[in-house]
Amino acid sequence: MAKPAVQERKERTVEQVSAQRIASLDDEPPLKRKGVEESLATPRTSRSGIPGSSLFRKQFFPNTSSTQWNDWHWQLFHRITTGEQLLRFLEPTESEHQALQRSDWQFPFSVTPYYLSLINLQDPEDPLRKTVIPHIAESIVSDGEALDPLGEDHTSPVPGIVHRYPDRALFLATSFCSVYCRYCTRSRLVGGHTEALEEHWDRALDYLASHTEIRDVIISGGDPLTLSDERLEKLLARFRQMKHIQMLRIGTKVPFVLPQRVTPALVKVLKSYRPLYINIHATHPHELSEEGRQACNRLSDAGIVLGSQTVLLKGVNDSVEVMTDLFHSLLKVRVRPYYLFQCDPIVGSAHFRTTIEDGKAIMDGLRGHTSGLAIPYYVVDTPGGGGKVPVLPDYEVSHDAKGFCLRNYEGKRFMYPDAKPEA
Ligand SMILES: *Cc1c(COP(=O)(O)O)cnc(C)c1O
Repeated sequence: MAKPAVQERKERTVEQVSAQRIASLDDEPPLKRKGVEESLATPRTSRSGIPGSSLFRKQFFPNTSSTQWNDWHWQLFHRITTGEQLLRFLEPTESEHQALQRSDWQFPFSVTPYYLSLINLQDPEDPLRKTVIPHIAESIVSDGEALDPLGEDHTSPVPGIVHRYPDRALFLATSFCSVYCRYCTRSRLVGGHTEALEEHWDRALDYLASHTEIRDVIISGGDPLTLSDERLEKLLARFRQMKHIQMLRIGTKVPFVLPQRVTPALVKVLKSYRPLYINIHATHPHELSEEGRQACNRLSDAGIVLGSQTVLLKGVNDSVEVMTDLFHSLLKVRVRPYYLFQCDPIVGSAHFRTTIEDGKAIMDGLRGHTSGLAIPYYVVDTPGGGGKVPVLPDYEVSHDAKGFCLRNYEGKRFMYPDAKPEA
């Protein structure tokens, strides 16, 4: 049967668009072969100004040009999403192997070739590796864990909206991410194993339009910056029509997992919807590669205000040294550390969670020791839907009629002659 001459232009998923666009560029990474193992121990050059990813590309995608590699569609099309594909790049540990073998896995696995290039493939303890490669510990359900620990589903008046605070709300724009973080707080929603959130846009937008008390919308997901420029522009334009919405925020990890996505065309779209705040999910200083830093700078240059959100993760970034390095590296590219989150108790997250005391000790190692600008709020997003609560090291030693006794960063005590309360 002949196709109609003019087909209705349907919305397509990012994956369909990418598949189509990339079909002609396709090439497969070579199978793991003898001799490759030795050269795997390539020095980490990503911080010396040379893109570390170019060595990786030459090794695993020898027929891929840097133009292809730097095309975000290419990166999406070549995502590594199965254990079998991963074998081409690294030798899984026993715990990773067990996790990758499971077919009943409910939380999908996906990593871009670019993000894999930031990982030292020979090191089972590589910090970024632990955040994206499945581990069998994810199948252990510990006390207090839940699929929806923040009770977001209870504060969701319509699908795709979380409205917990008086003047601001989350808009979940998509359930797709280019890379799935193993500790994801929305693992119940992302990855497309529930119906696509995109289908709910109209109802969600109607909700925001009719709730004029909302002046701040946080566009989250999934990763909103994986939407096409056209879809994103359409969405931003809808928000602009709502006069009560004074500002928009986007929560994304794109600058660090798919920096190629931050194209001049995307930046142009974003620039025209200022005031726009982008909070970038940042995990570890290894993410601040040449490409990652350039992506941040392009956004900042366009007048978009950048902040970071980091999840405290055991064995990944749970030290004063790593956190200081991360926050300094972010400030150098004009990203202001905003939140450090205690890891949410999602199902299978025990191996990632530190104690809150550990978190407080890290905060204690920052305040006073480095720029206040390098210090985010450490918050616990309270299970059950109470929202974010800041947690501080104990700086207040005591207070009485004479005043407040405070401890400084060196552990010395100082009295502040507090005003007397009015009778
Ligand atoms: C984190 C969050 C916000 C934004 O909180 P801020 O403290 O304003 O950054 C809004 N709504 C929900 C449901 C959230 O989880």
